[in-house]
Amino acid sequence: MANPAMPLGDPDATVVVGAADADATLVVGGAPAGARPAAPPASPSSSAPMSGNAARVEFLRKVQARAQAKANEAKAKEAQAKAADPTLSPTVTTTGAPLAPGQSKDDSKRKKAFFSPTITKLVSRGLLSQRDAISASLRARDQGTTFLGAIAQISTLAGDIAFYQGLAEEAGLGFIANDRELQQMLSEAEWLTFKEADVRGCLLLKPDDLGGARYAAIDPFDVITRDWISDRLAQRATPVVVLPAAFQTVLGSLKTRIEPPKTGDESLVPIDVSWQQETKLLSEPGAADVPLVVDYILQRCHGQGASDVHLEPTEEGMVVRARLDGILHEQSRMPLALHSAVVSRIKVLGGMDVAERRRPQDGRIRVMIRRSPLDIRVSTLPTVLGEKVVMRLLDDSAVRPSPEQLGLRDRHLRLILDKITAPHGMILISGPTGSGKTTTLYSCLSAADRERRNVVTIEDPVEYRLKGVHQMQVNEKIGLTFASGLRTILRQDPDVVMVGECRDAETARMAVQASLTGHVVFSTIHANDCVGVISRLLDMQIDPFLVASAVTLSISQRLVRIACKHCSVMVEGREVLRQLRAEGVSDEKMQRLGLSIDERMPLSQPTGCANCRHTGYSGRQDVFEMLEVNAAIRKLIISGNHDVDEIRRLANESGMTTMAANGIQMVADGRTTYAELFRVFGEG
Ligand SMILES: [Zn+2]
Repeated sequence: MANPAMPLGDPDATVVVGAADADATLVVGGAPAGARPAAPPASPSSSAPMSGNAARVEFLRKVQARAQAKANEAKAKEAQAKAADPTLSPTVTTTGAPLAPGQSKDDSKRKKAFFSPTITKLVSRGLLSQRDAISASLRARDQGTTFLGAIAQISTLAGDIAFYQGLAEEAGLGFIANDRELQQMLSEAEWLTFKEADVRGCLLLKPDDLGGARYAAIDPFDVITRDWISDRLAQRATPVVVLPAAFQTVLGSLKTRIEPPKTGDESLVPIDVSWQQETKLLSEPGAADVPLVVDYILQRCHGQGASDVHLEPTEEGMVVRARLDGILHEQSRMPLALHSAVVSRIKVLGGMDVAERRRPQDGRIRVMIRRSPLDIRVSTLPTVLGEKVVMRLLDDSAVRPSPEQLGLRDRHLRLILDKITAPHGMILISGPTGSGKTTTLYSCLSAADRERRNVVTIEDPVEYRLKGVHQMQVNEKIGLTFASGLRTILRQDPDVVMVGECRDAETARMAVQASLTGHVVFSTIHANDCVGVISRLLDMQIDPFLVASAVTLSISQRLVRIACKHCSVMVEGREVLRQLRAEGVSDEKMQRLGLSIDERMPLSQPTGCANCRHTGYSGRQDVFEMLEVNAAIRKLIISGNHDVDEIRRLANESGMTTMAANGIQMVADGRTTYAELFRVFGEG
């Protein structure tokens, strides 16, 4: 339905990277969901695997494209920054394609030059009067909406089927002419609230016959909305032109259905900062209302998927940083004068002592951001410049991934499910802090049969509530430790037990015992890799025979960032090598980590774009290594001659793929980069 040759006024449609990305993935395999065909009529040969000269030419073309893209990117970024706020967006840039060659400048009539080619065509087809077009564009400028947004407000035009039909034709898009049709095609999503649908003039539709995402739009050229929806659906969404009159009718009837529910829980602080409030706040942060500043920071960081928010007093002002995909990014700077008031507000919300500024404090806030309840753990730290606040955002509504969704490969998935459903055994997970161990633990738990088995946990702290699981929290003050909690759990006739961490020998010993007496036990343990887990247990003076009999699976994991699929270009292995060496990665390190790079291998490399906040990465995924304790390894452990290298050799023999090999596979799939593997693997 979409006509890719028709520019939709999309800033990245003109960025060559978009096109390069689509065929770049052909080399690596597996085009990303929603990848568009290349914008210009692509040569048919580009779909076949390339070799020799063709590949070199292609490579050069992409290098050029990348340079071009960088330049365009800067422009697009600027445009996007302006357009991010509808009240600032100039009419012309968001209404169609003013860039079309030969369109505006050599047009002697000033009036015509005002409109995009599509609108000009509609005027020349007699579907829109010159007068209405001009009055709409003036209205758009005054009210800060797009041209089509303004047309929709003109009552005589909002129901003009001929005009909208023509618009859809010119844009090569589908058309919904009445409310009944719209109602039938409608789909719902939690993130599309009534307010959002109203402000953006869009409603989600059921996918088309080929499974492509679609949405009904009053302004199909509104790129911001298109990107916003595509981001949330994680695939490219195509607009379908809808008659504004029909849209309003349906939206009105939906109001009650998709409006956020009134929550009965009084302890939840509702947060909903509007665009207008946000714009005002950003233009004049000094004059802003303090509660609004706090709301804005939380809403924005939560919206970006941050796991932690840091508020830091510095000489230059109050710096707000958010941890996104494991790395801190500066979000904003506000006047230092605001800092103490903001901290006080957070303390009030968190039930902390506002007057106490010299001692560190902990607190907890429950808020409702837009529609999702959010649990926030607050911690303050007195520094010489003032109190630094760190807020950890624990999103209750975030979906716990099943083992399938964790990105586990076939063999790994089979192994893990096999051990979860076994009558007994011990599954240990290792990895540095922040490597997603908790997520893996929870996903294992969610795979356990909670209806017919008694699933009990002892955690510190309970991070997420899981339905059908009895969760207990460590409380050292009253003597409830991992060890004592586990002892209690074992008297509760459990089938599956999760122990947050085998922190000490006593806990580890009890967990081993529990698994030997007919329970499935999950836990985490501090060790560098799968084999290290075994050594760690033995170092804790646990009998080798018990270790060998209890442990059935040892999992080690690291979180790597996923390369942004919007801005990846193909480069040769030698270019990647050159960059890595320039960053100080030595050949010895490559060797030690088992990451060697083929110079001629085409590799996908992100360049940074608005979609990935110019980091080149968006989202994270775990890389695993799994050691199944089989008969041969068991025998070796019991023999007392448990040499680490020997265990590793046996594991490799029985088909264990190493973390490095799994990481390289991800690079080959275009999911991540060597640079990222070095960053993550190099640390541990
Ligand atoms: Zn990107």
